[in-house]
Amino acid sequence: MCPRGGRLLGGAGGPLAEARLVCHCLLIEAGGSLVLVDTGLGTGDAEDPKRLGRPFRALVRPRCELGETAVRQIEGLGLDPGDVRQIVATHLDLDHAGGLGDFRTADVHVFAPELAAAKSPPLRERNRYVAAHWAHGPNWVEHDVDGDSWFGFDSVRLLPGLGVEVALVPLLGHSTGHAGVAIREAGGWLLHCGDAYFHTDEVATPPSCPPGLRAFQNIVGHDARVRRRNQERLRELARVHPHEVRLICSHDPTELEREQGA
Ligand SMILES: [Zn+2]
Repeated sequence: MCPRGGRLLGGAGGPLAEARLVCHCLLIEAGGSLVLVDTGLGTGDAEDPKRLGRPFRALVRPRCELGETAVRQIEGLGLDPGDVRQIVATHLDLDHAGGLGDFRTADVHVFAPELAAAKSPPLRERNRYVAAHWAHGPNWVEHDVDGDSWFGFDSVRLLPGLGVEVALVPLLGHSTGHAGVAIREAGGWLLHCGDAYFHTDEVATPPSCPPGLRAFQNIVGHDARVRRRNQERLRELARVHPHEVRLICSHDPTELEREQGA
């Protein structure tokens, strides 16, 4: 996504310069099948960008290239997109749920309040969800908190039996039922924080954030107070457990590059 904003959005140059934001999805190989965390923009969006709505396209300026969709990148890795049997959604905003239609047979795990909000959004949130993204009728698997805890956060264990530890970690605020996704890896955990923060320095100590990204989060956020509180908790998590937990968010391109380099 190439919004204008330059340094105000963490890029380079003045306010009219193009900045760059990514939609960071994760693909997990598990028990002979594939698990996808978020789907970014999909082939349906590349074929018909208008379905994303004029405000989003004007402000965020998504590229909508077929080659950048998750399904094409999975094929590019030599894998079969039909093996994606589970999708875990941090939330259902249009830049995260656009590719659902590219994986029609997958179960889609989502925090229950998010699905409820996406299916009947209040007027002021109508632009953030695109009903066409789930018009094919996904196999929704709704989750509610069940008393489990992950580093002091509520959490819901997903996918028992797949030989991979994945947990949904509600991080409300950005949207009604926004959640992070924790994945166990060698030596610790990777926590995909979705849109709980937008710039990697927001979870650093001391925190900082380019002013345009801060304003954007306040404008699109569902509940600013809850969002800021959860961001504080993530910062604390990163500070106290730097060797056990690695945080990534959806849209920071430097974090994507760091992970790809690793
Ligand atoms: Zn987003």
